[in-house]
Amino acid sequence: MSHDDTTAGNYFVANYPPFSCWNREDAVHARHRLDEPAADATELGLYVHIPFCRKRCDFCYFRVYTDKDSRAIRRYVDAVIAELAQYADREVVRGRRPTFVYFGGGTPSYLSVDQLKHLFDGLQRSLPWDDAREITFECEPGTLQEPKVHALREMGVTRLSIGVENFDPHILEINNRAHRAKEIDRAYGFARDAGFPQVNIDLIAGMVGETDENWRVCIERTIELAPESVTIYQMEIPYNTTVYRRMKDGGENVAPVADWPTKRRWVAEAFEAFERAGYHVGSAYTVAKGDQTKFRYRDGLWHGADLLGIGVASFSHVGGVHFQNEHDFQPYIDRVESGELPIHRALRIDDDERLIREFVLQLKLGSIDARYFQDKFGVDIRERFGAQLEQHAADGFLRIDGDHVRLSRDGLLQVDRLLHAFFRDEHRVARYA
Ligand code: SF4
Repeated sequence: MSHDDTTAGNYFVANYPPFSCWNREDAVHARHRLDEPAADATELGLYVHIPFCRKRCDFCYFRVYTDKDSRAIRRYVDAVIAELAQYADREVVRGRRPTFVYFGGGTPSYLSVDQLKHLFDGLQRSLPWDDAREITFECEPGTLQEPKVHALREMGVTRLSIGVENFDPHILEINNRAHRAKEIDRAYGFARDAGFPQVNIDLIAGMVGETDENWRVCIERTIELAPESVTIYQMEIPYNTTVYRRMKDGGENVAPVADWPTKRRWVAEAFEAFERAGYHVGSAYTVAKGDQTKFRYRDGLWHGADLLGIGVASFSHVGGVHFQNEHDFQPYIDRVESGELPIHRALRIDDDERLIREFVLQLKLGSIDARYFQDKFGVDIRERFGAQLEQHAADGFLRIDGDHVRLSRDGLLQVDRLLHAFFRDEHRVARYA
């Protein structure tokens, strides 16, 4: 085994401080924070978690259910609506309007048109989002029929994100992906006809069975479709995946996917091909066409916006307190139905942790403006993180350019690995569980 091999564990830094240090005791702080006013001019976003999928992909580490019937789904949708109604009454939310909304999962497009209308209407009764500049909706190609796609556009979705992951039928099948390759073009055609301002395609570099040749085809096919943006993740194998369970059963330490240098090379090749096709690299995981193609959910989150996450296992960040909902279906439903907020664990953070959080998240954009941190936190990040920046610069991962910290392409391609150096000591070894 070499340190380049893909072994089990989390690579992707989704948040800071790590989830493993969030705790039940701090849940009380989260509830109290809801009764205090919001900080001036802080944006509010809404995340809605739809935890249903047709099949569980072998690499999936999300909380998803493949066995729920329409009654259970209806009950869940009603619980999500009721949960948001509870927030709408609290001081920190009252009178505010979300500027971005994100439906993630799971597979939000698993819901029928009737269920979707019920959900959208119910949520907006307590928190209208007519001021939102972006409403993202994640979908799986095999769940998209033409009427559903048009209904989503009519309901106001502005950014349709299609989980393609790979174009090869065999690779989709051996990774237990639900959709078939031929469903991709069909779904994409519906999305274009419906007139979404932004269509995003998700790809994964390093699925089981991936090859140099097939990855090139995936990039070419995506460029031919010409979506406004593309998201590319490097395959990681967290402990709660089917791939890991198989590794464990077979006594294997190395995952049956490409090693990290190969995955980085595949993303580098993709970035270069997209740049030649007129896209720009917007972060470690995204390329986008034109200056008008924004991703407000990401940018809001990485610049300290308040985010209300509703639904089972959802994550929120409000007024300096992180919190997460009950992560199992029935306890989530039971608590909401009994009129309680279903908060399971939380973490209150101080200004320094907030600064670190925004710094590490914004570093994923590839460039950081020191003036932003000076204005917001009164801290010069070039001094605060002097030693770490110097080390990463010496390793060729970044350079200081006046007020900016700029990652090299090599640094950007492995940014999640570099972020731990900026964490507080006690969080450096924490697992992202
Ligand atoms: S579609 Fe996404 S959320 Fe659903 S099982 Fe596959 S990876 Fe997990």
